[in-house]
Amino acid sequence: MPVLPSTMQAVICHGPQNYTLETIPVPKRGPGELLLKVEAVGICASDLKCWHGAAKFWGDANRPAWAETEVVPGHEITGRVLEVDDDARQRWQVEAGDRVVLEQIIPCWDCYYCDHGNYHMCAPHRMFGFHRSAPGGMAEYMTVPTQALVHKINGDLPPAHAAFAEPLSCALHAVERATLQFDDVVVVAGAGPIGLSMIAGARAKNPGLIIALDLDPRKLDIALATGADLAINIAEEDAVAKVKALTAGLGADVYLEGTGHPSAVPQGLNLLRKLGRFVEYSVFKEDVSVDWSIISDDKELDVRGAHLGPHCWPAAIKLIEQGRLPMERICTHQLPLADFQQGLNLVAQGDKSVKVSLLP
Ligand SMILES: [Zn+2]
Ligand SMILES: [Zn+2]
Repeated sequence: MPVLPSTMQAVICHGPQNYTLETIPVPKRGPGELLLKVEAVGICASDLKCWHGAAKFWGDANRPAWAETEVVPGHEITGRVLEVDDDARQRWQVEAGDRVVLEQIIPCWDCYYCDHGNYHMCAPHRMFGFHRSAPGGMAEYMTVPTQALVHKINGDLPPAHAAFAEPLSCALHAVERATLQFDDVVVVAGAGPIGLSMIAGARAKNPGLIIALDLDPRKLDIALATGADLAINIAEEDAVAKVKALTAGLGADVYLEGTGHPSAVPQGLNLLRKLGRFVEYSVFKEDVSVDWSIISDDKELDVRGAHLGPHCWPAAIKLIEQGRLPMERICTHQLPLADFQQGLNLVAQGDKSVKVSLLP
């Protein structure tokens, strides 16, 4: 077994816009836990929103702060198992040397939601990378608590591709929430990591038509390579008119929202047909105002939220391992840990990147 160093490099969140690279002790594995060498951690749009200080993380007049300071961020994690004991081996079927991915939530397994199979809505909602009790992946090493959900993934994949199982599982859950039917016309708003993953998930279900919307021609090109039948550049074309023209004036059956941009909400309400399904996955920086009578009186829509990727990780891992996504085009940037700030900046500049990962 390799001799572990006593210290490691890690990013520490001290609060909004105050993240630093520091040298801290290598964490010690408790009984039943794993010690991982982190191989890649994706930077999520939510990491950027947390860095910016969004109310969802740091609270406002309507809600308390959920994130904590003095935490190692990062929840799109893949790593190699360095240390494992019999208890962990039995729980997760993993051995030293295996590559694993971690579900971002660490369920309590004891609340109302966990008891009802909805572990992704676990009441205490402990997640890697936001709480002191669960340091995330922006570090060379990390431990995995016993309540965590651990999945094995092919160790020959590039690490950044393996870490993409996290956003992909989330998008697959959004697709499941839409209960796709074979002849559905599905519109996916946004061709970033989540939108592209929604397209891949919808493709796997093979509905009637998958239409990608974005402003960036380069991303729309990747959307076509990921399985969209059609791409509409909303900077150049009227998406609502085009979707109506493609559906004999009716509108789309399903709208999957993966941009987090306020304008994407009325756009979806307007391009859905009556009795359509609207799935919202995004985290918004600001409030969105819409005419709710479109949802009721005009169209009787089903509006469904989606959060995390419960029960979708095996399917996400399978899609990546089978090479169903153009991962080389999706994983645009891999940076060393020390360049985390550049990584966050690249995520902010969506026209320059798709998925940005750190390789600690
Ligand atoms: Zn994420
Ligand atoms: Zn729970």
